[in-house]
Amino acid sequence: MNVYADHAATTKISNSAKVAMIENMDLYFGNPSSLHTQGQLAKEQLNKARETVAKAIGAKPREIFFTSGGSEADNQAILSAAYAGKKKGKNHIITTTVEHHAVLHTMARLAKDGFEITYLPVDQDGWLNPQLVEDAIRKETALVSVMYANNEIGTLLPVKEIGTICKQKKVPFHTDAVQAVAHVPVNVEDIGCDYLALSGHKFHGPRGVGALYVKMGARIDNLIEGGAQERGKRAGTENVPAIMGMSVALAEAVDSLDDNMAKTQALRDYLIKGLSTIEHSRLNGSGAERVPGTVNFCFEGIEGESLLLLLDAKGIAASSGSACTSGSLDPSHVLLAIGLPHEVAHGSLRLSIGEENTYEEMDYIIENVKEVVAYLRSISPIWESLKNGDKPYIIQ
Ligand SMILES: *Cc1c(COP(=O)(O)O)cnc(C)c1O
Repeated sequence: MNVYADHAATTKISNSAKVAMIENMDLYFGNPSSLHTQGQLAKEQLNKARETVAKAIGAKPREIFFTSGGSEADNQAILSAAYAGKKKGKNHIITTTVEHHAVLHTMARLAKDGFEITYLPVDQDGWLNPQLVEDAIRKETALVSVMYANNEIGTLLPVKEIGTICKQKKVPFHTDAVQAVAHVPVNVEDIGCDYLALSGHKFHGPRGVGALYVKMGARIDNLIEGGAQERGKRAGTENVPAIMGMSVALAEAVDSLDDNMAKTQALRDYLIKGLSTIEHSRLNGSGAERVPGTVNFCFEGIEGESLLLLLDAKGIAASSGSACTSGSLDPSHVLLAIGLPHEVAHGSLRLSIGEENTYEEMDYIIENVKEVVAYLRSISPIWESLKNGDKPYIIQ
């Protein structure tokens, strides 16, 4: 059996998105900046996609800027707000320790350029107390950037409360909502954010396309200079087929959000119940509200990488954390941030499921994870010393 359980890394494109892309390439291949009919037809399609994306998150079409994905949208929001602040003498930025690397590495770049970055700690479930944001804001704060949903453990962060605080304190607020959009209800007015990033391939759209919401009046500067596309804020001939594919996938996901959430959540709970029977295992983020599909476990005494490879050999596609950290031997920064010691963080497994998964697949995952964990423990010297009582268990 082949089971795809890595939806937080990417999703398979939906059939309707694929059909919309092909139709777009066949019928509307003009350059939207061209004045002839072919160009104007393409431009109409682009406008249609912009309206669809705006509607899905409660924004106005003028507030949507298409980008090459979530990473670019995060970079553009953060750099725009940071340098707009710097011009007014503000050089302080607030974020969290559990952000995606698209945010963390942008912060590192700003730190090199003289910004002071406050990384707020999260609790044992990856949740951020909004009071910490309020306490950290100073008169030099140029931006607050807090993700909506964590990509490794699925925790939902209190962005509405943070949005309210930022509004009161008149500090721009960006949220990386790449794991939230199309998975939980997302509305920019409710959040009260100035910037929001989303990405097509996390909700059955194509890769290499995303969008940045920029609230009317919020500062936005180019990362890429050139033509006047995207109201002069993102140069380069628009990838209209991808933009169209993303908008179709988003509309589809938002239309069936309640059903998809209920279905995914039920599958997830079934999976969690099955995996929880493994001794000395821990469900990460268990005390917090989470997105419906993401499950992150630690199993004491094993290596996550070995677990992944053996599961892959059984046809199960999972992850040990974010795709960006795999391949490196450092444990996940998110698992360390929630207070797990290195040796436990190394034994992690992320299973991220979608509404198209089945109960048979969950049974197959449970059966194989149990078998592989037992096997890896049987050959693990660490497990041996835990069992013998030479070392205490960290996960009870
Ligand atoms: C995937 C992801 C991104 C990056 O999006 P891309 O479209 O792959 O650039 C950013 N933030 C989070 C939380 C993500 O999960």
